[in-house]
Amino acid sequence: MSKTGMLYVYSGPSGVGKGTILGPYLKAHENAVLSVSATTRAPRPGETEGVEYHFLGMNQFEALIENGGLLEYAQYSGNYYGTPRAEVEKHLMEGLDVFLEIEVQGAMKIKKTFPDAVFIFVLPPSFEVLQRRLTNRGTEPPAIVEMRLNTAREEMRHAMEYDYVIINDNVEKARAELSCIVTAAKCQTKNMKKLIQKVSD
Ligand code: 5GP
Repeated sequence: MSKTGMLYVYSGPSGVGKGTILGPYLKAHENAVLSVSATTRAPRPGETEGVEYHFLGMNQFEALIENGGLLEYAQYSGNYYGTPRAEVEKHLMEGLDVFLEIEVQGAMKIKKTFPDAVFIFVLPPSFEVLQRRLTNRGTEPPAIVEMRLNTAREEMRHAMEYDYVIINDNVEKARAELSCIVTAAKCQTKNMKKLIQKVSD
């Protein structure tokens, strides 16, 4: 395959519905994959090693950092999260589009190393809606929910640094917007150079 894939950095506060929006897109597009991150966080009920995350001990995670095995990493709510380098680079070389579902600090690091990546941020319609969603999800104890809400406020201030924003007030609309964003990104002139040359030669 001659064309490398595109990198999409996909962020939004915990509980905003990132997975619900992106899931159907990935199912419908064989050429797009979600990068499986490494984390020191404990698995939640129903999470499987290698599917949602690679669940690592602190020593294993630190070894990955030292060996340059991560494209980026960050601390979030007391745990480490990072993007495995080899997997992402392999997928891109194979021509696959890769989505990184990562928090803001990591996203800003990717912006420096992959300036051509497409940056998408998902916002809730209001802070109160996010508060309700995160509390009702029941996957974290109240103290952690509180910590995640504080982080969310901080993260949402960075939405301006992204290329596109999706407001998740209606999941079908949000999914349609994601599809449109990917299409628009692919149609950017800078991503069409080879085709333009081929047609005009
Ligand atoms: P959760 O614990 O809810 O699965 O994830 C917490 C946050 O960490 C989310 O905002 C998620 O997008 C982010 N995250 C997941 N994987 C990575 C990663 O590899 N790098 C960074 N920087 N953030 C990540």
